[in-house]
Amino acid sequence: MHKEKPLATKATEKINLKGLWIGDFEKLLGDLGEKRYKARQLASWIYAKGATDFAEMTDLSKDLRRKLGEVAFIDSPKLVDRQTSDKDLSEKFLFELADGARIETVLMWEGKRVTVCVSTQVGCPLDCTFCATGQMGFKRNLTAGEMVDQIIALGEHRITHAVLMGMGEPLLNFDDTLRAIKIMNDEMGLSFSGKRITLSTAGIPSVIEKLAKEKLKIKLAISLNAATDEKRNRIMPVNKKHPLKELLAAVKKFTQATGRAVTFEYVLIDGVNDSEKDAAALSKLIQGVPCKINLIPYNPIPGLPYRRPPEHGIVAFRDYLYPRCPAVTLRMSKGEDILAACGQLRT
Ligand code: SAH
Repeated sequence: MHKEKPLATKATEKINLKGLWIGDFEKLLGDLGEKRYKARQLASWIYAKGATDFAEMTDLSKDLRRKLGEVAFIDSPKLVDRQTSDKDLSEKFLFELADGARIETVLMWEGKRVTVCVSTQVGCPLDCTFCATGQMGFKRNLTAGEMVDQIIALGEHRITHAVLMGMGEPLLNFDDTLRAIKIMNDEMGLSFSGKRITLSTAGIPSVIEKLAKEKLKIKLAISLNAATDEKRNRIMPVNKKHPLKELLAAVKKFTQATGRAVTFEYVLIDGVNDSEKDAAALSKLIQGVPCKINLIPYNPIPGLPYRRPPEHGIVAFRDYLYPRCPAVTLRMSKGEDILAACGQLRT
């Protein structure tokens, strides 16, 4: 059994309700001598309706609202900057958290689809050599509340999809990420169906297996970026700890346990992983795994030596893969001019 986290760290400290979920609310209500079934009403006020003040919760008794106000509060992040791309419909938001840490969230429009790209950590410990977030190092994990807040704060934009693909490695912050997903997924929460939520990971095999056991219908994306250990070790140091064989075995287990295909993301970097030999290794590696491949042309990072391959190289790579792999898509990132594209987030 896992140890229950204390709701507040000091007896005198008020509890931040943002990020807590039904079981936590039931406990709190029980402690206040109230009926536990009101937990769902409380959750709905905080997440589905975005209330930040107990006074708004008109279907809870005045007495309960007063008691809640005495022991708890509902935190919200501070929006400190906002940049809009001139090239496409994307926007980047900079939030400041209670301890002063800063994180970035990206919003992208494609037709009717409005996707929010959520960060799961402040910085990232994985040190992928091509990614800007890795350059800023790792500061701390985000709480589930800080993850869902990135969506709630942008709620007015009618978001249809959420991708856990911003700063950080979600599977190295598993408990809070899982709770955030449950809040996103529930109708008392943010009401995103599982197929509108994607978790992207650099690949932590044991945690992928844990995720497979959760009854979630979310999509899983794996950032592959290289198809041999020799090459992947060079650009994604996490591969030294968890080599491809182990990663692919976990991914296969995931597809078997859930009955769902996964997406392999492959960032195309000029002269690094974009040759025909690389494409051949990639198509061989994923044989037998129900999957789609998503090719992402590299977004240059100021100060890093990597470049995007020329257009014809990108197309040739895709055309080599296409007949050999079940589904291949080429995704042009959004928000490149405001450094909001994949791998460009750093504060
Ligand atoms: N840690 C998670 C989520 C954050 S990275 C993961 O690794 O999946 C999100 C995606 O951006 C990954 O697929 C990563 O490979 C990609 N990426 C990182 N830097 C990039 C860059 N400069 N250009 C394009 N994609 C990049």
